[in-house]
Parts: sequence; structure tokens; C-alpha cells
Amino acid sequence: MTAKLYALESSFNQRSKVRVGEAEFGRDFVLIAGPCSVESEAQTLLAARKVKEAGAHLLRGGAFKPRTSPYSFQGLGIKGLKILAKAREAFGLPIVTEVVDPRDAGWISEYADVLQVGARNMQNFSLLREAGKIGKPVLLKRGMNSTLDEWLNCAEYILAEGNPNVILCERGIRTFETYTRNTLDLSIVPAVRELSHLPVIVDPSHGTGRASLVEPMSLAAAAAGADGLMIEVHPDPAAALSDKDQTLSPEAFARLAGRVLRLRDHIRNDEGGGRGNH
Ligand code: PEP
Ligand code: MN
Repeated sequence: MTAKLYALESSFNQRSKVRVGEAEFGRDFVLIAGPCSVESEAQTLLAARKVKEAGAHLLRGGAFKPRTSPYSFQGLGIKGLKILAKAREAFGLPIVTEVVDPRDAGWISEYADVLQVGARNMQNFSLLREAGKIGKPVLLKRGMNSTLDEWLNCAEYILAEGNPNVILCERGIRTFETYTRNTLDLSIVPAVRELSHLPVIVDPSHGTGRASLVEPMSLAAAAAGADGLMIEVHPDPAAALSDKDQTLSPEAFARLAGRVLRLRDHIRNDEGGGRGNH
């Protein structure tokens, strides 16, 4: 590395906090949940109600989907963003949604409380600069082939534009293993905490690609010191238009949320903090 990076330290002598609505990344254990894609108003509003009841702090939902095949469902676009805005109004949940094109970042940020930069776009430097200029919190996913150093440098592009509100998200990397969609690299969580002041959350949905593995890896992420989770939830997972194999039912998410929050409380008390984390 050549220059000293804001992502590494500079004036931060403690962990950064990123506030979104009532939740604060870096203080609370933040649960982001919702469908992979916004498919319809009914699907999104039902998902929002269910994840809110289960304790989620933020609603996720893709309106612009970066799909491997151009023939797969690409998302509802602006119609999807309007549905997300309705869900926010109905349930008071801030919205996390992905932006895939720097030209769209400005107007999408009028609907989003957190702009998601996806794994495939981690090193889209013009997108990172735009997201930095807009100033809204940015959820920066780790590229599937990226090292920690590359990832932190991408966070740096956002920070260097004067936007300190960056949340890192581990979502699995490519390895030789094929049983899982990706290999969830949980060792990156304490590694980020060693090097950077930025909050780091984990997405075990994309990290495993299998619904049955999401709860155990969520517990492991919480135990490893993650600042939160992002989980795909659909009212009817089998009918999801994208990522159905890794998507939880609302009931499975409610169970996961309860178990993870109890584990976090236990860990905090064990650390002597006892600060509570909701
Ligand atoms: C997503 O969160 O829906 C997504 C596309 O994730 P990733 O960029 O990690 O593949
Ligand atoms: Mn997905």
C-alpha cells in the first residue's frame, strides 16, 4: 500500500458507527432481511411484515439484479423501488437495495436508506466514487475473488469522497468446493476487526447458497464478532424468482433471529460488556 488509508485507522481510535434509522452498525447487532428480489407488492409487503415481526431492523430487496444470465429475471427496476418505499412507509423499516450502474446511483438513493454495492461490482470504481459522493450509507459486499486488502481499498474509494458511512459485508468467496455456492470466509470478520474500524456484517445466504446452512453460519458469524447479518427471506421460498435455494421462510428467519440475538446477548455478557444489543 502506498498512502495511509482511512479504512485502516487515521483519526479513528475506536470502531466506526453507521446509523440507519433506529439501528446503529458497530453498536447493535443489525439484522437485514427480505427477498433477494422485489417481485410484487404483495410479496414484498408480506416479507417486510414478517421480518419486522421477527426482529429485523432493515428490509433488503433487489430492484436491479446483477444476474449471471441476461435471460434471468432482472428485477422490477423503478417499480420495485416504489414497492420498497411503500414497505418502508408501512412498517418503518429502512431499505437496503442494490445499485449496479453509477448513472443510477443518484436517483436510486432517493429510495434507498443504504446503497448496496454487490460482489460483482466491488471494484467498479466509478460506482464507488458515486456512492461516496452521495453520502448515504453504503453496504460494500466483498468480491467473490477479492482479498481483504482489495476490499478495504474499495471501501477507501467511498471514504475518500468524504462518506464515512461504509458497512462491509462478507458474502462468500470462490474456492474449489462446489457443495456450497461459495465458501463463507468467516475468518475475515476478526481479520477486518484487526485492521479496520469499519463495521462488518455477514451474508450467509449467498455465502452458502443453501437454506439449511444459513442458520448455523449465522450463529457462527455472530460468534466470530460480526456486527450483523443480511438474510434472504421470502413468504414462499420455493416460488422465489431468484436465489430460492438459499432463501428462508419467515418462520425459519424468526427462529434464526431469536437464536442469534440470544447468542449475541450471551457473548456480550460473557465479554463483560452487558450492554444489550437490540
Ligand atoms: C444480493 O445481495 O442479492 C446479491 C446479488 O449479492 P452478491 O452481490 O453478494 O452476489
Ligand atoms: Mn440473492
